[in-house]
Amino acid sequence: MEIISKIFLENKAWAADKSNMDKEYFYKLSLIQEPDFLWIGCSDSRVPANEITNTEPGEMFVHRNIANVVDLNDINLMSVMQYAVEYLKIKHIIVCGHYGCGGIKAAMSKDSFGKMDIWLSKIKEVYSQNVSSFDGLETEEARLKKMVELNVIAGVKKIQSSELIQSNPEIVVHGWVYDLLDGILHRIAGGTT
Ligand SMILES: [Zn+2]
Repeated sequence: MEIISKIFLENKAWAADKSNMDKEYFYKLSLIQEPDFLWIGCSDSRVPANEITNTEPGEMFVHRNIANVVDLNDINLMSVMQYAVEYLKIKHIIVCGHYGCGGIKAAMSKDSFGKMDIWLSKIKEVYSQNVSSFDGLETEEARLKKMVELNVIAGVKKIQSSELIQSNPEIVVHGWVYDLLDGILHRIAGGTT
């Protein structure tokens, strides 16, 4: 239990820090949630949305899954998107993949991963639709990077084509890739603002 106790201790220290800096911090956060962004990213523990964008609680509505897959039949993601657009009135949707993604690597291998195969099949589909994009890419690393990018581009296109965004065209959809090696975000697709 040592490791769990540490989490509760750290939580107390964090809450005390925030309150020391601004006595009303938690009270103000409790009143209203007005994020400008919906972040759709990978569950990978090395890509925490708030931390890498230097944003605070309240600034970003977050959905994460293995390999930031966008599937318009995913009731979880679709509910998050609808809530973010219609109730939170977010202005930007960010689909963020990352180089070194284990989910992408698994999808690109021929191995079987049990139940996860159903999830990874969405990435395999994107691969099948873009086979020619891999021409001339000789290393595995280059192929995986390309797949990370294509998965983000496919996600952006799916969101742009969704009924929800078609009827809310003021929302800008962005496709980004995060590089684990230097902590930098790169624009890959979608809006530039
Ligand atoms: Zn990942």
